[in-house]
Amino acid sequence: MNYSSSFIPTLREVPADAVIASHRLMFRAGLIRKLANGLFAYLPLGLRSFRKVEQIIREEMDAIGSLEMRPPVVQPGEIWKESGRWDAMGDGMLRARNRLENDFVITPTAEEAFTAVVRDELSSYRQLPLSLYQINTKFRDEIRPRYGVMRGREFVMKDAYSYHADDESQDETYQAMGRAYRKIFKRCGLTVISVKADSGAMGGSGSEEFMVESEIGDNTLILCKSCDYAANVEKAACAPDYSPRFSAELARAAAAETPAFEKIDTPNVKTIEELCAFLKTEPRQFIKTLIYRAVNVELDLSAAPGCEKLERKKPAPEAPYVYPEAFFAVAIRGDLDVNEAKLAALVKASEVSLAADSDVRRLTNAPVGFAGPVGLNTLPVIADYSVAGMNDAVTGALEKDLHYQHVAYGRDFTCWMMEDIRTIKAGDRCPVCGGELYEKKGNELGHIFKLGYKYTRSMNVSYLDENGKSQVPTMGSYGIGLDRTLASVIEEHHDDAGIIWPATIAPYHVVIVPIKYNGEVKTASDKLAAELEQAGIEVLLDDRDERPGVKFNDADLTGIPWRVVVGDKGLAQAQVEIKRRPEKESRQIELTKAAAELALKIREELAALNG
Ligand code: ATP
Ligand code: MG
Repeated sequence: MNYSSSFIPTLREVPADAVIASHRLMFRAGLIRKLANGLFAYLPLGLRSFRKVEQIIREEMDAIGSLEMRPPVVQPGEIWKESGRWDAMGDGMLRARNRLENDFVITPTAEEAFTAVVRDELSSYRQLPLSLYQINTKFRDEIRPRYGVMRGREFVMKDAYSYHADDESQDETYQAMGRAYRKIFKRCGLTVISVKADSGAMGGSGSEEFMVESEIGDNTLILCKSCDYAANVEKAACAPDYSPRFSAELARAAAAETPAFEKIDTPNVKTIEELCAFLKTEPRQFIKTLIYRAVNVELDLSAAPGCEKLERKKPAPEAPYVYPEAFFAVAIRGDLDVNEAKLAALVKASEVSLAADSDVRRLTNAPVGFAGPVGLNTLPVIADYSVAGMNDAVTGALEKDLHYQHVAYGRDFTCWMMEDIRTIKAGDRCPVCGGELYEKKGNELGHIFKLGYKYTRSMNVSYLDENGKSQVPTMGSYGIGLDRTLASVIEEHHDDAGIIWPATIAPYHVVIVPIKYNGEVKTASDKLAAELEQAGIEVLLDDRDERPGVKFNDADLTGIPWRVVVGDKGLAQAQVEIKRRPEKESRQIELTKAAAELALKIREELAALNG
């Protein structure tokens, strides 16, 4: 391709809203332009790299037997109503109505569409397992689109969906997807960390996210210094301070020396800090009790304190009961924080949030700030493991301006459920090996998920098993964001002068820079370009009538892996100058050998990544 016939509008200046390298460089190198907030156009150079990411993903999906298909981007609202996500997706999902007043969805993800297609075609166990994918447009009305294509409103996702007769088959595909993802990111030149992720209220049994380390990452990753434990903070666990089997009896025994609990006056003391100052104690001595409201709880609460009269619904014949709203008291050591994702997963809720003050007053019979687990029988108490070993604690007394001291778990109160619901912090201990945990910020590029029966049940998918009995298949879903992957490649591979593409994603492999594109230089440049193209190498020939400095800057900015400079001086010796983009030094090489040498180097680079 000749530069003069291409459309590569490079920029010197940096757009004001571009705060990260990939965003700046994608603009400056002429890869993208912004149409509106979160809406971008890929220009020809950007599209070439985008297509390479796409092709790598396609090859690896095909290699594990997933089959590409393509449902529409605009989907009927009905299927979203069937799955229950018409309501659950909220404002992030863009909806539209046509002239016939039919509801439509601009697809943010496609569990429903694939499941609707599979439902109509699936009849026998012989068709399973079935793994399908698309590489297609998604739209999410993100509240804060930012960092360029990293978080856009419209973006492209590879999303795959698989259907299985049993968990074993689901696990095989899940593992194969995980391996394919690692291969995809390696081929893109990306260093990814795979972390255990929250499978939340989706009812799934496993979930893994593929993260790249990033200062601007939206995710906190918890990693172990001593072993390979890695988890999203939403999911991360730690070695419990006390064994989960630390029974109420053991706790009682541990409290043998503790004086009986008693009420103390704590006038106008509400926060833990104020209380610690007042009692000259530490947050660790305090049992913090928070009242949470949970929505769409799929847990059996029939035997839970205070829940006898809670409204519950049975949404579908086989679906379990759902409580549209339920409240829980959550007790945790005063120096720790409740992890709401873990809490939501524990109570199988679609969402949890701190209860409104009025609900707290109604449920605890006390003003906000005086909740405590002792004598609390109006709602189920969920305690974090950290509470198990507390045998001389301070906690709210369910009365204004009063607290209890000398409170012991097991002796003075128990709980409805004890689980790990704390937010893990750097310095906590690894749940696998006991090593020290540390934190990193990360950006999610991909996510694989065992979904279970959520969609196949609600959308009535069935097949006949070997015995002619009707069964519901189990399902998985697997996504990678292409735009975010591409931007992340630039985040990992750039310097002050511009992008440094890995050979696999580079829009062109070689840029030829003639010092002045005429005469002998032109002839040699054209010939070299033709030879390289003959060898399957993608070439950009900078035939513009620009100063060499301008051409060199653009070559660096656009990040093409190899640069060849053709000039009169070199040609006098029958030589050209070649340079790898990441290196400072160039070297002279015989013109007649240049094409073969470059083709060899590029093939080596491609092979190393594709390996
Ligand atoms: P995030 O937490 O970053 O919003 P998500 O967990 O909602 O992402 P998934 O539903 O798991 O995303 O989608 C799969 C992949 O799609 C993500 O791993 C990411 O690469 C990509 N993706 C999701 N939202 C966006 C977006 N707004 N812009 C670009 N890519 C996105
Ligand atoms: Mg995700």
